Amino acid sequence: MTAQLIDGAAVARQVREDVAKGVAELLAAGGTAPGLATVLIGHDPASEVYIRNKRRACTTAGMADLHQHLPADVDQATAAALIDQLAADPAVSGILLQLPTPGHLDSEELLSRIPDGKDVDGLTVANAGLLAQGRSGLRPCTPSGVIALLDHHDVPLSGAEAVVVGRSVLVGKPMAQLLLERHATVTICHSRTRDLAAVCRRADVLVVAAGIPGLIGPDAVKPGATVIDVGIHRGETGLHGDVDTAAVAEVAARITPVPGGVGPMTIAMLLANTLTAARRQQGLVDGA
Ligand code: ADP
Repeated sequence: MTAQLIDGAAVARQVREDVAKGVAELLAAGGTAPGLATVLIGHDPASEVYIRNKRRACTTAGMADLHQHLPADVDQATAAALIDQLAADPAVSGILLQLPTPGHLDSEELLSRIPDGKDVDGLTVANAGLLAQGRSGLRPCTPSGVIALLDHHDVPLSGAEAVVVGRSVLVGKPMAQLLLERHATVTICHSRTRDLAAVCRRADVLVVAAGIPGLIGPDAVKPGATVIDVGIHRGETGLHGDVDTAAVAEVAARITPVPGGVGPMTIAMLLANTLTAARRQQGLVDGA
């Protein structure tokens, strides 16, 4: 069997077009354009690439790019003051603090200053709690993007066996909660899991976010499964994920490529969250 490739770039394009339409509708209804304040501290090359892509996507969707860049040696109080200023600024609909921040800074303290309604990365304690309780809030972009990909391909989730590899705050945990919300039977694997391959073989839907290149091979995949690869690693031969894509594609029914799978969806969902935040701040309900 050769798996169908899940085209994240195409689905992301559609989400971005829908967001652009939503922005136009917001303006037509007398609102103001959503503004996204990305905050980059220092010069991590990968972060610079991500931020550039997010800013470009933001302006393409008709949103205001309110990017802020702080030097690598900035002190906590100065960084905190910038977040506070963005928090109070009505032109700023969403604030995204690019992680990781330089080691001398307390990123959790900085994140805690972002108002829940502007937390477009879904990382504040309140938004994580709302998600844990199955209540409405801003949800983390990467796991939301995974759900959007699964929905786009009509992958059944209710009652399905879903296995998430990784338990990070950014991806694994919220991913498991979103799958649970959709009535999947969810198992979370992590670095202490015994016999990872055996657990993964139970999965109808396998989402891998462990940050280890090629961790998942064909021995860990049930024939006919849908495999979502959240990993991204820059190697000598280009970008690779946590899944051995070529070998797993012989077993799985569907698989996301790297690049062109989950990556583009993360940015698309960031834009969708920024629009949602702006609508709520401007007193317009979702979909209005
Ligand atoms: P990400 O941002 O993609 O979620 P992190 O590095 O923050 O990546 O988290 C990696 C996660 O992967 C951790 O929760 C860790 O427990 C999990 N992990 C690491 N190694 C393994 C492994 N060998 N098997 C399963 N899970 C693993």
